[in-house]
Amino acid sequence: MQGDLSRPSRAAVEAVLRGLSRELGEHQLFTDPDLLEPYGRDWSGAEPVLPDLVVKAESTADVQVVLRAAQTHGVPVTPRGLGSGKAGGCIPIGGGIVLSLERLNRIKEIDRENLTVTAGAGVITADLMQEVEALGLFYPPDPNSLKICSIGGNVACNAGGPRALKYGVTKNYVLELEVVLANGEAMMFGKRTIKHVTGYDLASLIVGSEGTLGVITEVTMRLVPKPAAIQTALVSFTDAEAASLAVSQVIAGGVVPRTLELLDEEALSVIRKKTPGRFPEQAGALFILETDGATEERAFEDLARAAELCQKAGALEIQVAQDAAQRERIWEPRRILSLTLTESAEAKISEDVVVPRTQIPQLLRAVRRIGAKYGLRTATYGHAGDGNLHVNVLFRRAEAELGQKAVEEVLKETITLGGTISGEHGIGLNKRDFLPLEHSLPKLALQRALKATLDPHHLLNPGKILPRRGPTE
Ligand SMILES: Cc1cc2nc3c(=O)[nH]c(=O)nc-3n(C[C@H](O)[C@H](O)[C@H](O)COP(=O)(O)OP(=O)(O)OC[C@H]3O[C@@H](n4cnc5c(N)ncnc54)[C@H](O)[C@@H]3O)c2cc1C
Repeated sequence: MQGDLSRPSRAAVEAVLRGLSRELGEHQLFTDPDLLEPYGRDWSGAEPVLPDLVVKAESTADVQVVLRAAQTHGVPVTPRGLGSGKAGGCIPIGGGIVLSLERLNRIKEIDRENLTVTAGAGVITADLMQEVEALGLFYPPDPNSLKICSIGGNVACNAGGPRALKYGVTKNYVLELEVVLANGEAMMFGKRTIKHVTGYDLASLIVGSEGTLGVITEVTMRLVPKPAAIQTALVSFTDAEAASLAVSQVIAGGVVPRTLELLDEEALSVIRKKTPGRFPEQAGALFILETDGATEERAFEDLARAAELCQKAGALEIQVAQDAAQRERIWEPRRILSLTLTESAEAKISEDVVVPRTQIPQLLRAVRRIGAKYGLRTATYGHAGDGNLHVNVLFRRAEAELGQKAVEEVLKETITLGGTISGEHGIGLNKRDFLPLEHSLPKLALQRALKATLDPHHLLNPGKILPRRGPTE
């Protein structure tokens, strides 16, 4: 898949390195293959590719230096936060420079009056959350990778998480971004004010652009007051279809929980073996229901109402956590589920599709049918409340081709159901050739034109998001 981009010449790499050595410190430039190796991979499972050099920027000015030098010498640049991406977005498939933002890790300001936080792109998301929570504030987007990803990476991928159901995703919190364009020019996009409608919304264009349109160096994000109380319950159903029908009933019943996470039969069976005794015997599928509020009464009121709606929809049993330890006991299996599924098979492809929540039962049925057609195990779990499900196809290495075919059918079925092929992880490298399933040729052409305007020499994270050109383009 990676073979369609040629690497820069040795002379170009040496010239860019000479140029960078004049303007940056030695401690910022890395060419030793052992040190380059971790910067050639992410968590996507895509084949790693060694960059020619890694540059660790320590300021916006450093990022400008790198992009100008790259342009002068025609060397590609792949921006990288902390490398937790699941789409291959930060794999430097054209070689050249990996531009790491990990050292831009300072929280500059938390503004309690205006409810904003301003931070370097490399700040670890969990650190940002912790700092604002210590002041009674809350940054809600909560990717499960929050301890190993950066806030800049979250903006670049428009990350979401379990709490998206109630609070939205990263884009709903972006106010202002400092961005360095491919030509090295630094610009501020967006505004720190809550309202802002002057000109095109360039900050929104950068959100989710996966490092292909500009390098994010600093972010200002909106905050909300920290909810004082949380209530958590484990709700069991006979099967995943019954559970998914209950999802729509809860929302239609007027409750918007903070999370509504589903585990289907296979996901539950795999995690049961790892964490025995945690789940009711008769449960065929589960969801984790969580509400929050400014007071204990408010959070409990919402939980009670949601529980009542679940019972009406056929829930077998509802266990409400009585303290933090019980809450953790409910969440822990969900947190380790992805890894546990990986361990349960020789190979796994995990998708992050989204369908309108009323279509979840149809999606679950389609996944089961596709699994049966190819004779492969499937396990589905995730953020059912917002229709974003992690569909996992599990197979033996020898069945890799069947696995790919099954995944392609799942993606097609998702589109048929009115959904989208990625709700969280982005397109990056792994899903770029599936983009035409969802975007028409004119829409792809418009995006190619945007890319060419912002990055005319195609040096910024080349080969990502946009598919290789088909015969009809
Ligand atoms: C165990 C696990 C659980 C996960 N759970 C979730 C989840 O619940 N929700 C979710 O949304 N994602 C999840 N992810 C995926 C991943 O953590 C997110 O996509 C995250 O936003 C990536 O951040 P990063 O700093 O690691 O970025 P990287 O992996 O370094 O980069 C990802 C992409 O963003 C670009 N990029 C990174 N930083 C910048 C920057 N400063 N400027 C411009 N471009 C940049 C890169 O070029 C690349 O295309 C999970 C990953 C793992 C491993």
